[in-house]
Amino acid sequence: MSVTANLPLRCWAEIDLAALERNLRGIRAALPGQIRYVAVVKADAYGHGLPQIAARLMHAGADLFAVANLAEAASLREVGPDWPILILSPILPQEDRYLAELNVAVTVSSAEEVARFSSVARDSRRPLNVHLKIDTGMGRLGVWHEQAEAVYQLIHDAAGLRLAGVFTHFSSPDDDPEFTALQRRRFLLALARCPGLDTADLLVHADNSAGIETLEIGGPFNAVRVGLLQFGILPRPGTLLESVHAEPVFSFRTRVGLVKNLPRGTGISYGRTHILARDSRVAILAAGYGDGIPRSASNRAQVLLHGQRCPVIGRVTMDQTIVDVTDLPAVAAGDEAVLVGRQHDDEIGITEFSRWGDTIPWETLCSVTKRVPRLYRTQLGL
Ligand SMILES: *Cc1c(COP(=O)(O)O)cnc(C)c1O
Repeated sequence: MSVTANLPLRCWAEIDLAALERNLRGIRAALPGQIRYVAVVKADAYGHGLPQIAARLMHAGADLFAVANLAEAASLREVGPDWPILILSPILPQEDRYLAELNVAVTVSSAEEVARFSSVARDSRRPLNVHLKIDTGMGRLGVWHEQAEAVYQLIHDAAGLRLAGVFTHFSSPDDDPEFTALQRRRFLLALARCPGLDTADLLVHADNSAGIETLEIGGPFNAVRVGLLQFGILPRPGTLLESVHAEPVFSFRTRVGLVKNLPRGTGISYGRTHILARDSRVAILAAGYGDGIPRSASNRAQVLLHGQRCPVIGRVTMDQTIVDVTDLPAVAAGDEAVLVGRQHDDEIGITEFSRWGDTIPWETLCSVTKRVPRLYRTQLGL
């Protein structure tokens, strides 16, 4: 066996697949039974590792998967050959010829796409499933809601295309319920203007994790697209969201590489942005922005050592982060430090960690680098 296979870990992420499964089941239980569960697993399943996450979500009862692109769809196909997959991002014209082969549903926002996808279906002699996306105020993908009818008609008339779903995406479901309600109304109005459109035959979806809080029961909505929440992270406070009791799936850990004493007045790290106010003991952690600790968390973040919060002092650097452990004399090289997660009686949540880095949990998860092995709890014997 190679040396590297046996090396102890310097910085790693622990992924709790059992918690992931409980989260999916909890989310399902909080929603009416007819609501389909679209598991959003783009960006390597939010940095958790696509194959492992998708396999567990398939086992737990996801109905459909959503990814950003064809490469992600191909990885997913290796895990579950027959699972329905929706591609959320626009397909590049250069990618068209791979569509039929992967047997995925694509998002349609424009007349040009209808024409392209219809010719893909004709050439391959296989029908292609499409979801019509309607822009109700996000200003990104989708046909503008006032023009949705025209694109719907083109899909309807196109040879080889099968309309499998209609959807929209909310721009501020976490903090602007009025605008979210307006987007819902625009969506429903756009659907009502499409002649012959029968929502009972389609997947009708709008809600991401935060949207679930205001999901309209009784309307035509019959699916939700869940990303963040299944990983145990609340996108916003809310009664329905909290009733799910989602548990964190991800934790982020490293070890102390060196402990040393420094005299009062010493400037810490590049730029000397922190000057020691007293004689101090500092611990140098074996992780930095090269692992995914944002540099903007310099002088702000905290880490757990021996169950206690210790402040990060000075700049986060590529391979090292420095913390003040003056009040924890027992800290020694090799000790585990928790960046995100629980240690003894305290826990640092990913939302709190993200705030220290001026970012959001979605970005934090996508920023954990390739240097960081993902360990799945079953492998840890936990
Ligand atoms: C990423 C994404 C989601 C999932 O969003 P969360 O807030 O993580 O639940 C849903 N819909 C679309 C279109 C997305 O791109």
